[in-house]
Amino acid sequence: NKMVYYFGKTKTEGKGKAKDLLGGKGLNLAEMTSIGLPVPPGFTITTEVCDQYYQAGEQLPSGLMDEVGKAVKKLEKELSKKFGDNDNPLLVSVRSGAAVSMPGMMNTILNLGLNDAATEGLAKATKNERFAYDAYRRLINMFGDVVMGMDHHMFEKAFDKIKKKYKVEDDTEVPAEGLKELCEAYKDVFRKHTGEDFPQDPFAQLELAIKAVFGSWNTERAVKYREIENIRHLVGTAVNVQSMVYGNMGEDSGTGVAFTRNPNTGENKFYGEFLINAQGEDVVAGIRTPQPVAEMPKWNRAIHKQLLEIKKTLEDHYTEMQDIEFTIERGELFMLQTRTGKRTGIAAVKIACDLVKEGLIDEKEAVMRVPPNALTQLLLPSFKTTARNAAEVLCKGINASPGAAVGQLAFTAEEARERKDAGESIILVRRETSPEDVDGMSAAVGILTSTGGATSHAAVVARGWGKCCVAGAGDVHIDEKTKKIKVNGKTLGPKDTISLDGTTGEVMLGSVETQEPKLSGDFAKLMKWADQYRTLAVRTNADSPADSKRARDFGAEGIGLCRTEHMFFEPERIIHMRSMILATDEDARRGALAKLLPFQRKDFEGIFKAMNGLHVTVRLLDPPLHEFLPHDNAAQKEVAGEIGVKPGEVKKRTAALHEANPMLGHRGCRLSITYPEILEMQVRAITEAAINCAKKKIKAHPEIMIPLVGTFQELALLRKKAEETIAATKAAKKFDGDLDIAIGTMIEIPRACLTADEVAEHADFFSFGTNDLTQMTFGYSRDDVGGFLPDYINEEILDNDPFQSLDQTGVGQLVEMGVEKGRSTKKSLKVGICGEHGGDPSSIDFCHRVGLNYVSCSPFRVPIARLAAAQAAI
Ligand code: ADP
Ligand code: MG
Ligand code: MG
Repeated sequence: NKMVYYFGKTKTEGKGKAKDLLGGKGLNLAEMTSIGLPVPPGFTITTEVCDQYYQAGEQLPSGLMDEVGKAVKKLEKELSKKFGDNDNPLLVSVRSGAAVSMPGMMNTILNLGLNDAATEGLAKATKNERFAYDAYRRLINMFGDVVMGMDHHMFEKAFDKIKKKYKVEDDTEVPAEGLKELCEAYKDVFRKHTGEDFPQDPFAQLELAIKAVFGSWNTERAVKYREIENIRHLVGTAVNVQSMVYGNMGEDSGTGVAFTRNPNTGENKFYGEFLINAQGEDVVAGIRTPQPVAEMPKWNRAIHKQLLEIKKTLEDHYTEMQDIEFTIERGELFMLQTRTGKRTGIAAVKIACDLVKEGLIDEKEAVMRVPPNALTQLLLPSFKTTARNAAEVLCKGINASPGAAVGQLAFTAEEARERKDAGESIILVRRETSPEDVDGMSAAVGILTSTGGATSHAAVVARGWGKCCVAGAGDVHIDEKTKKIKVNGKTLGPKDTISLDGTTGEVMLGSVETQEPKLSGDFAKLMKWADQYRTLAVRTNADSPADSKRARDFGAEGIGLCRTEHMFFEPERIIHMRSMILATDEDARRGALAKLLPFQRKDFEGIFKAMNGLHVTVRLLDPPLHEFLPHDNAAQKEVAGEIGVKPGEVKKRTAALHEANPMLGHRGCRLSITYPEILEMQVRAITEAAINCAKKKIKAHPEIMIPLVGTFQELALLRKKAEETIAATKAAKKFDGDLDIAIGTMIEIPRACLTADEVAEHADFFSFGTNDLTQMTFGYSRDDVGGFLPDYINEEILDNDPFQSLDQTGVGQLVEMGVEKGRSTKKSLKVGICGEHGGDPSSIDFCHRVGLNYVSCSPFRVPIARLAAAQAAI
């Protein structure tokens, strides 16, 4: 196989070849050359050679250096210079470059080919002694660092000495004499630490450098990076050997980096920085402060104009925003790199839409260009960049739910509610949260916890609402009694304001300025395009009219999961719920339930109205009853007083309801088997709400979902009860119209998947509850998984959190089986998914492939799901 691909005026062999073979940098150097851009000529050694190098036990394949020699000859001819020549030496850079950009790979070596004699020659040929020795000292330094693995510090020390001697601070102020001395000092350092002289033979330098690039492919850092990023198909890195151009030849030279458009805003304006009289990494190294490219016309108007032309050429060729590196040698511009530019979510959307407008890409391509998760940034308020850069960061927790929140501290849920109702903006600070806190959480603009992780109660609830949450901020020490937090030496109380960045996990002091999201314009346009391509419907998980409405604004096409338990936590309702639980006989239970009915009916009416014309899947009561009872003495006493029973009763009942493993306990449909009156009340509320809607010409399409079914008998029994209740309610209300109420089940127990053909006989629809299904398939309690998940990720037992991204190989098989078996009984069975996974792009792709009808996710993820569904379909 061909090992070396030349790029230059004479020929460009790599044009149109695969990135996997030449690496990103190499391929783009060839492409740029072929479209006529000023690229210093050079050649690329393929990734296959890297593979052979390792297969041969870290030996370069025979013949490689011959091919390299031939390519060098071609370079010499094209440039009329000679590699290793003492009078007019050809110098090269040696650059690594895999198919994907990879931090941790080898740094670039510049000015390779110089030695003592050639440096003298270069000084003469360029009539610039200072430049020649500057180039040489850089080579010795980089070669020492990169090829010999020396510590950069050793060189710095020597440089400091020289600067002191010449009484200057800046590298550029050191005179030629000083740089000459520096080269001698560097060679001494090199000898001292490697036991060898700095190699004077340019071909020896080149061979060592090529080996070093290949060696860097398997450094620990590089291997780890590939694992984390799940990069598996690549065989190695390419090596680019490129003739040098010099940005360090004086005030008419320089080097820079730029984006063809603004990567933060997407604005179609050239954006970048440059540095006069500098080479290579100087711009990004922070030794001197570069100038914005907008200032360039003052320095060299022609070069600035040429760069703007190149911007257009590149974008026309790649049809994408580019990130470029360039160098100016004595007033002549050279391109050294181009690649697709990284950008914010906001910029991604704007650029995709602009490129369509400019005719460079079509709508389908635009849909593919935006990573779904990048939309998060567009849907939530965020901190203004300047304000957040100036802010004082108190500490960092887990970025549990993105967004920006500014508020004063509240220490309990009640306090949060009261102060919010009084008009304050509140951040709720808790060690951790529990279902009892939901009202206060909903009142707060942001939530901060000191324990718990990304799947803790606070995190899951906050994400569902699109509310900002920083969890597990261990540096925050909370004293609930004195209403104070201590964080890194600062003490804050209820009057103090903090700002939470749920996107980074940072907690900042004071009020940091925020900006609201814009859902119109380009965002709306992209969403419209996405909707044209997707076949999966996107519903939302919502349990209030306000959430339903918001989700509808985000494009939800129905509710896939309306949880009814949150409805029972509001203050005037929880008392009846507790009375019901504490009741000792069915009559008393029915009495309490009757009081809950009007609340529930009103909720459903509000939701049906908000979702007018769309389907609403209502899940019957799911959590174990003890979750509704208070667990500490004082609260139990209070409840006893409210309900009018002895305090001991509350304690006794709470103790009686205690389960060793409530996740697998008396919950879901099991509650309705034991207490059918709960189901009856809920189904009656749904039916009455539907009747009321029908009377007001609101189109309600309720779907009653029975949770946690593991056997068809459970579903058959409860379906019959529900149907009877619907009929009885209609009769009582003297309503004989058609209500279109479907009855189906949540599939979340493995046995339900295994017997889905039987279950489907009694179901109008299935909805996969993949949170519980994952929990029960792995046997990991999803509330406790945080304790060992980090170890599992570290030890590479798991690639990622299976509660966030569906385990397609394991849990996915059950989903697939459930769909197949279910539809074998009922061909038209409607099937969806309503776990957290319904908003995760890779899980959505899976749902598309196995033929689900819809995914359902939290309101704020609806646009993300719409885009992911479109990408799955394209
Ligand atoms: P990285 O992948 O870390 O960006 P590069 O291979 O792009 O490394 O090299 C870093 C910098 O070195 C380039 O941006 C450029 O400024 C400089 N450089 C590389 N090759 C040359 C060359 N042939 N002539 C001049 N400068 C070069
Ligand atoms: Mg680069
Ligand atoms: Mg469940």
